[in-house]
Amino acid sequence: MIYDNLSVNDAGHLAIAGIDACELAAEYGSPLYVLDEDRVRKNCRTYVEAMQKYLPDGSAPLFASKALCFKGIYPVIESEGMGADVVSGGEVATALAAGFPAERLCFHGSNKTDAEIAYGVARRVGCFAVDNLNELAVLGREAKAQGITQRILLRVTVGLDPHTFAAVKTGKVDSQFGVPIETGQALAFAKTALATEGVEVVGFHSHIGSQIFEPGSFCDQVDRLLAFACDVRDELGYVAKVFNLGGGFGVPYVEADPKMDIAANIAAIASHLKAGCEGANYPMPRVLLEPGRSIVADAGVTLYTTGGTKTVEGYRSYVMVDGGMTDNPRYALYKSAYTIINASRAADPADFACTVAGRCCESGDRIAEDICVAKPERGDIIAVLGTGAYNYAMSSNYNRVPRPALVMLSGGTARLAVRRQTVEDLLALEL
Ligand SMILES: *Cc1c(COP(=O)(O)O)cnc(C)c1O
Repeated sequence: MIYDNLSVNDAGHLAIAGIDACELAAEYGSPLYVLDEDRVRKNCRTYVEAMQKYLPDGSAPLFASKALCFKGIYPVIESEGMGADVVSGGEVATALAAGFPAERLCFHGSNKTDAEIAYGVARRVGCFAVDNLNELAVLGREAKAQGITQRILLRVTVGLDPHTFAAVKTGKVDSQFGVPIETGQALAFAKTALATEGVEVVGFHSHIGSQIFEPGSFCDQVDRLLAFACDVRDELGYVAKVFNLGGGFGVPYVEADPKMDIAANIAAIASHLKAGCEGANYPMPRVLLEPGRSIVADAGVTLYTTGGTKTVEGYRSYVMVDGGMTDNPRYALYKSAYTIINASRAADPADFACTVAGRCCESGDRIAEDICVAKPERGDIIAVLGTGAYNYAMSSNYNRVPRPALVMLSGGTARLAVRRQTVEDLLALEL
């Protein structure tokens, strides 16, 4: 199977980390998000170990919370020695509510509000990735008012265009994230930041996009960031201690996708940066990476109960599931491919050509088109694999569909980590 924590058990059912998917759906209901904690830990270790091996002390991966934010993820991330990125007051609050050390948080976001900046400073978030001059001014004032010096990274755009889907690439010059190097604005940003009271610039941040499979794009990013850092040194006499290279390591969703060797990729980036620094006579900085998807995507599975099939004669067959764009909007947004199997008949041949449709009143509510699964009967459990990233985090209540529960699996047992939302929860907000 595409992910090696999945198997078919004696009952012919899909097993996730050895646990029967149909039994999970029976016990916790559907739709259900399932997260294999052991797999998350394994992914964390790949980053932590490779970064310790190939990069200077103090280099570390920070988990990009936006990929999957709920309290239960933070103890896992923390115990594996990672930091975390947060992009809103809500993500800061979630991490802190889970006991995550504020010192290990990096506060991102292209338009933090004054209240969020004040809150982040008050809670002593370790670092802010400052997006722009507007925010820099507010942050400097706030840190001074609260009597601290806030450590910051300056978010710059390196003007790279990795070949991924438009909506998930962020490093090109014309972007709402960060300040562009190419136009000279990033140098001016650095000059202003270095003269701003209340903040200490520790380095630069850049993120070029998502679902990147080859180290070449990251090496190009390193070249541009280093050239910028050299300009800053030459013009302003400032030397960065930290390069934060963002996230974006790719994850396979279907068999045809490339697989990425994360450790080898980190080794390649590290040696490229070392060579560049030597060539430019620039002190080797600490490196931070911000993996989101590659930490949690392949650890997640969504389980649905099918209401059965519908065949439109001469056109196509549909498998109808009891969730859809409300728990996984990624197909509707980006036509993202997923591997889908009939968990109730996982040993049977996948020979029923179909489109998997959700329950919302939207013709775009589909999870996959033109795939094959073992032909389901009403009541079968349909598993969508690789849904650990950007599914729960992007879920909505469209059509007043309550958000699913989330179950974590560890050491052969399951535990409820997020309870299923109820209609009462939804109504509770309304006066
Ligand atoms: C989205 C994002 C990430 C995480 O990207 P993945 O593709 O999930 O690894 C990291 N850093 C920043 C700034 C981002 O915007």
